Amino acid sequence: MKAKAKGTVIDRSRRNFLGSAALATAAMVRGAVYAQEPNNTRQAEDGHSFSNPGPENKSLLEANPSSNLPPPTDHGNVEPIWYSFDLAHKRVQEGGWTDQVTQRELPPSKDLAGVRMRLTAGSYRELHWHTANEWAFMFYGNARVTCLNPDGTIFIDDVGQGDLWLFPAGFPHSIQGLGPDGCEFLLVFDDGMFSEDDTFLLSDWVAHTPAEVLSKNFGLDRSVISKLPARDLYIFPGSVPPSLAQDRASVEGSESPISYTFKASTMAPSKKTQGGEVRVVDSRNFPANKAIATGIVNIKPGGMRELHWHPTSSEWQFYVAGKARMTVFFSQGNARTMDFNANDVGFIPRICGHYIENTGTTDLVFLEILKAELFADVSLNNWIRHLPPEMTSAHLNLDETQIKSIPSEKLGLIAG
Ligand code: MN
Ligand code: MN
Repeated sequence: MKAKAKGTVIDRSRRNFLGSAALATAAMVRGAVYAQEPNNTRQAEDGHSFSNPGPENKSLLEANPSSNLPPPTDHGNVEPIWYSFDLAHKRVQEGGWTDQVTQRELPPSKDLAGVRMRLTAGSYRELHWHTANEWAFMFYGNARVTCLNPDGTIFIDDVGQGDLWLFPAGFPHSIQGLGPDGCEFLLVFDDGMFSEDDTFLLSDWVAHTPAEVLSKNFGLDRSVISKLPARDLYIFPGSVPPSLAQDRASVEGSESPISYTFKASTMAPSKKTQGGEVRVVDSRNFPANKAIATGIVNIKPGGMRELHWHPTSSEWQFYVAGKARMTVFFSQGNARTMDFNANDVGFIPRICGHYIENTGTTDLVFLEILKAELFADVSLNNWIRHLPPEMTSAHLNLDETQIKSIPSEKLGLIAG
């Protein structure tokens, strides 16, 4: 009965809305909303129209109420904007595991692919290289990383929670878990079809090179060559290394003049508002990284990453903590809203408008990742407040006082 009463109210307001010529402009502006209202009103009047007597996956529905009951502003069959690492195949080996969300899992994501990895204390991600640039964010623990430049200079450093690295495509590198409990991190590659299973491994190469060639190349006796691994190692256990200073002192040759790590954990926010804070890391503050620009975003409960878009890039998101709701606007009346939880991936096609709202009771932390040298976004508020007021008024039917109450600065994050 309650649903019916509510339906009547909606119905009446709809008739008033349609009957008022004065609101015709508003109806045109809000065309997408209006187009769906009659249908949704009927559903509310019927009361049981939202009911689903058939099968349902309760835990998925509870994690994503915006899919189950989309806002009436959503419309159209659009490409997916959500996936979760909790659905990905996990490759477990002694010493750790890995899983990945690439273009295979999330087909519209052609620019970027993500991999998670866990290494227990002392365990190695084997010495390797690959076709794509590798960007990383440490969630947990500590790791020692190495990277060799083509000129023979070597980079060695330790990375802790909240820190980043960037290894250029083709540069050989390694990752090793440190004490007390190894590490877990996210890798992002600037190629949607990248696969962590297709990298060039040291052990794989020596296992597929004739023994006499290896003997000649290394200047080692043939009998010694038989000790080399016969198959790939990929992730394998090892001993926790000595201190960073000891490891640096033990290597031959010069240290890399370029730093491939970035200590984002100690970085001051690039922007801080009542809604939260964001740390932007790109080639301006991390010069070795010309491939992937990132916003590390922290939004307070009720706060929101404002309506915006990115002029040159698609966006690949990783949700670290909290709960979020995002709507992506695809143009031509199409929009899709979904909910995001920790370990989920979000995707926004290039130039599509979006917001991200903290719908939980704790801080929302997510990574806004662009395949770009510089982080760039266009703020809707910033745009409509930097136009002649009569122009904004003509489009949105707002008077000058109302327009002036819209934030003029690009806030990035808006308080709840
Ligand atoms: Mn790698
Ligand atoms: Mn964005």
